[in-house]
Amino acid sequence: MKKIVGFSILCFFFILPATVFAQEKVYEVDASVLLVREEPASNSDVIGKLQAGDKIKVFQEKHGWYQTYVNGQSGWVASQYLFASDSETAVETTSSKEITVQAEGTRIRSGPDTSNSIINFATNGDKFSVVETQSDWIKVQLNDGSTGWVARWLTSDSANDSQSSSSNETTQSESAEVEQVARTENNGDGDLSGYNIVLDPGHGGHDPGAIGLYGNQEKDLAMIAANQIASDLESAGANVILTRSNDTFISLEERVNISHSYHTDAFISLHYNANPLRLVNGISTYYTNDSDQSFAYQMQQSLAEHVDLTDRGVMHESLHVLRNNDNPALLLELGFITNPHDIEVIQTESYQSNIGQAVTNALSNYFH
Ligand SMILES: [Zn+2]
Repeated sequence: MKKIVGFSILCFFFILPATVFAQEKVYEVDASVLLVREEPASNSDVIGKLQAGDKIKVFQEKHGWYQTYVNGQSGWVASQYLFASDSETAVETTSSKEITVQAEGTRIRSGPDTSNSIINFATNGDKFSVVETQSDWIKVQLNDGSTGWVARWLTSDSANDSQSSSSNETTQSESAEVEQVARTENNGDGDLSGYNIVLDPGHGGHDPGAIGLYGNQEKDLAMIAANQIASDLESAGANVILTRSNDTFISLEERVNISHSYHTDAFISLHYNANPLRLVNGISTYYTNDSDQSFAYQMQQSLAEHVDLTDRGVMHESLHVLRNNDNPALLLELGFITNPHDIEVIQTESYQSNIGQAVTNALSNYFH
């Protein structure tokens, strides 16, 4: 998000009416279990269940929910767990190609998304032949002849840079699960044990966000940051929910809906900045609601302590994902991808690890 281009992108997405589709659309379920509710609200009665791969017809959209018919009855499902089955996720088939797994304990899943169940594990150096690929996921043939999906960024055939291939798939595994679960379990005895944190990697899908000096897209860098921060938060015991765990488009309204779907203790939107003037650089924290002012200052102070980029300070602006959010909510601009120094630093592992620590410490201070 930046002052000129970013603001016009936001303005574009402010216009989000309830949509009645002229023609019914077919969507596919992208979660292991998706509950069908009587009304378009996460506290409404459950009237049915859908499974990964189920296809439904959608008649209208309302506040991030899709209306469909299940067993002859009208019902609503959370739209972020559906994708248009005739959309851009075109299947490209390849053959006689081999990939090598590059991480210990790599999960083999039943489908091309972290919401699919784990059917096996692979270790560093395991080789598999490729059956097909779908965006960031590779379908491989396992030793027993069955097939499973592995994240492309965990394999040596990765088109990603070394930084994203070193990111740990487990950081995404807890995200994008079933919408209705107020997650009560925690991951340990850390400072953030029992806290639900929603991380919101900006942009995605057909919205690349800002474009950096070397063609880097904000949406990709935001995803990398989200995975790193999620990993650190989970190490500290937090439950982490990602608004997106892959390169898909999610409206600003849906991002807020996801925040409201949980007992969310903090919502952090992650962005990188851009400016026509290459000299402009540094990190900043945005807040909209006055109740988040001190949270914003704690966050910015922690970022400034952990990273070497210029401290641009706290900004007070009216931003959709913050303004309409009932939970404590901040938006972080983690550097200018149009500045030669910032973009170089941003792509280092040490920077990513520093912002992970900065956010974790800030939340820890904020809650205690
Ligand atoms: Zn942005």
